[in-house]
Amino acid sequence: MSDVHSTIIVGSGPAGYTAALYTARANLKPLVIEGFAWGGLLQQTTDVENYPGFPEGIMGPELMVKMREQAQRFGATLVTDQAERIELASEPGGVHSVWVGDTEHRARTVILAMGAEHKKLGVPGEEELSGRGVSYCATCDAAFFKGARTIIVGGGDSAMEEAVFLSKFASKVAIVHRRSEFRASKIMLERARAQENIELLTPYTVERFDAGESGALSVAKLVNTQTGEKLQVEIAGAFIAIGHEPQSALVAGQAELDEDGYVRVDGRSTRTNRPGVFAAGDLVDHTYRQAITAAGSGCQAALDAEWYLRDTPEVPTPEGMPVGDLAESQWVPSGGAA
Ligand code: NAP
Repeated sequence: MSDVHSTIIVGSGPAGYTAALYTARANLKPLVIEGFAWGGLLQQTTDVENYPGFPEGIMGPELMVKMREQAQRFGATLVTDQAERIELASEPGGVHSVWVGDTEHRARTVILAMGAEHKKLGVPGEEELSGRGVSYCATCDAAFFKGARTIIVGGGDSAMEEAVFLSKFASKVAIVHRRSEFRASKIMLERARAQENIELLTPYTVERFDAGESGALSVAKLVNTQTGEKLQVEIAGAFIAIGHEPQSALVAGQAELDEDGYVRVDGRSTRTNRPGVFAAGDLVDHTYRQAITAAGSGCQAALDAEWYLRDTPEVPTPEGMPVGDLAESQWVPSGGAA
């Protein structure tokens, strides 16, 4: 068992590293459980052209390296391993525990920033052909499908946005959706409809993906959800855009979640229902899901944690004081000039 930290951050996307940067600058000596595949979903993207401060754009993985280095520069300690279990205290001032393997890390505050993953269809061939034709990010991979026949699966705004982007590269994009009505907003649907090489294929679901001789995706087998009619389409690319799954399993039954599994926070703050536990980024956000909004909420979580530590009397532990110097942290400005 280790000393009691002031704060543990679980997750390492823009929310996690920004929370790490701010808590480190507030001298809270954060411990970041960043996972093996640190960097979050931006590690899977190429050019990021909408993160302010990079007028020429920046590659997603490079941006994450920079965020990580910036947090380290101010003293964040990184654990490149998975958090396997989290036990959240329910009393104000209580101590929370995060297990990495057999090692228990304890802290007065926890910032949850585990993000979200792309939802999977769960059909045969999807996993095997992932990266060989099946993708979850048209903005990352569309350029590999110049002149190719492709499908997008889904009927929401993401599917429309991805389809329009993909249509600039692919010769044909069929949007395969399980209902004849679309969840997407009217404007996004119209934008997709306006592209000559986009076709709407409803109401169909994907039954399976099959590889061709090269081992890459060559066929999607579809089924009509109303008539049961089968349809086989020859494609080189399939983009799955059926939403996201927040990675909240570690705190289910402890932190309050909404019906879709996102961690609930109090109003515009990052406070969860557990005292001293804050949540940020895609783990909380249904709607915006941008690197910059995640980073912003990571900053908010750090400030919320700092204020909580300042204002909440500690429940003493047998081993004594936390690792971070709280008395000093009250007087160190956390935000600098920014
Ligand atoms: P979403 O709105 O939840 O849509 C998911 C779509 O995938 C739905 O059409 C759903 O079908 C379908 N789907 C879900 N599970 C499926 C399955 N197992 N098999 C087949 N189809 C399945 O998700 P989203 O499109 O990612 O959007 C999420 C949020 O981000 C929304 O609030 C959206 O407005 C926002 N967003 C905004 C923009 C923008 O404005 N630029 C861009 C992207 C996203 P059903 O409709 O039948 O349930």
